[in-house]
Amino acid sequence: MNSPTEHTSSWYAATRNIQRTWPELQEQLDVDICIVGAGFTGVNSAIELAQRGFSVALLEARRVGWGASGRNGGELIRGIGHDLDQFRNTLGDTGVLALKKMGTEALEIVKQRIQEHQIDCDLVLGYADLGTNAKHRKELDDELASLQAIDYPHRLTILEPAELKQQVVNSDFYTGALVDEGSGHLHPLNLLLGEAQVAEHLGVKIFEHSAVVELIKGDRPKVKTAKGLISCSKVILGCNGYLNPDLEPWLGGKVLPAGSYVIATEPLPHALCETLMPGRKAVADMRTALDYYRISRDNRLIFGGLCTYTGKDPKNIAAALAPNIAKVFPQLGKVKIDYQWGGMLGIGANRLPR
Ligand SMILES: Cc1cc2nc3c(=O)[nH]c(=O)nc-3n(C[C@H](O)[C@H](O)[C@H](O)COP(=O)(O)OP(=O)(O)OC[C@H]3O[C@@H](n4cnc5c(N)ncnc54)[C@H](O)[C@@H]3O)c2cc1C
Repeated sequence: MNSPTEHTSSWYAATRNIQRTWPELQEQLDVDICIVGAGFTGVNSAIELAQRGFSVALLEARRVGWGASGRNGGELIRGIGHDLDQFRNTLGDTGVLALKKMGTEALEIVKQRIQEHQIDCDLVLGYADLGTNAKHRKELDDELASLQAIDYPHRLTILEPAELKQQVVNSDFYTGALVDEGSGHLHPLNLLLGEAQVAEHLGVKIFEHSAVVELIKGDRPKVKTAKGLISCSKVILGCNGYLNPDLEPWLGGKVLPAGSYVIATEPLPHALCETLMPGRKAVADMRTALDYYRISRDNRLIFGGLCTYTGKDPKNIAAALAPNIAKVFPQLGKVKIDYQWGGMLGIGANRLPR
């Protein structure tokens, strides 16, 4: 069952290894920074700020990880999701280089955080971009050159269709792959809940079921929930695709919410998993409405895709994704789908991080 205030009925929620909850805000607090939204943005901002000595309160409308961070494909990939060279006119050479380096650094921060705090989240390294046409095949070469130019610190390999079939995805659907041994995949909800515990140990006050209903701006902003109020010197909005534009119209107008959808099959025989995806890397193809998939720790195919801008989910997510799976893996035939879910991600109106 999907409940508007509990975790969505994903494989992640069913296998989360931290069951605890946090209280609702029912008091008045004074802190340096108030963060709204407990996804990766909110929780990691809280960690960084608490480590620098700020007092932090983190308010989540539903549950920690209820949004995209607890529902996504679990693919931990360098970069910001698309080519940055197209923004050279807007950002200049220095701006493009800075964002490219941030895209690599982000990957390392996640891995360091997992290692330092021993967060149990099924991290597996190895990821491949997959081309589906001749243009993509050329773009893979360009991406390799671009990463080499910034001294990307992990092994990168271009694979032709016959090699990628043997080493990454046993499918005839692709024109080439760029394998990146530094990216990979993980259980995003377990990562986030582990990070929330790290934030809490650093002194961050976390509240669930505490939707912010009003922001009062000023020298000392006030953040209101139904039963509480926080005074602070700065507010961070980490609501992403779930931002109610009325809360902050300026930002609301710059974030386009888009739906994406994921299924988890029943556990597949180990030998079948090795045949479908030898090496168990995460993969994503290079189309705008892309497929992204991987094999989970417990041998499920976790397959994501589709893209909606209407705010309406497909009636039957498994049925909507079935043709995409059949196109990649016609040999798989009919398999039972144990979980299906979707979530909203926020696309920056100008496609740049904000
Ligand atoms: C199906 C799907 C698959 C994806 N796959 C991948 C992938 O494989 N790899 C990848 O890197 N990215 C992927 N993404 C994108 C990625 O998940 C998001 O970019 C990321 O999780 C955004 O994190 P966030 O913290 O900014 O937002 P979210 O995780 O969405 O968190 C926002 C939070 O704000 C809360 N909130 C909203 N309004 C209020 C309010 N008024 N008061 C208090 N709280 C509020 C919400 O309840 C929510 O919990 C995917 C996204 C989706 C939806």
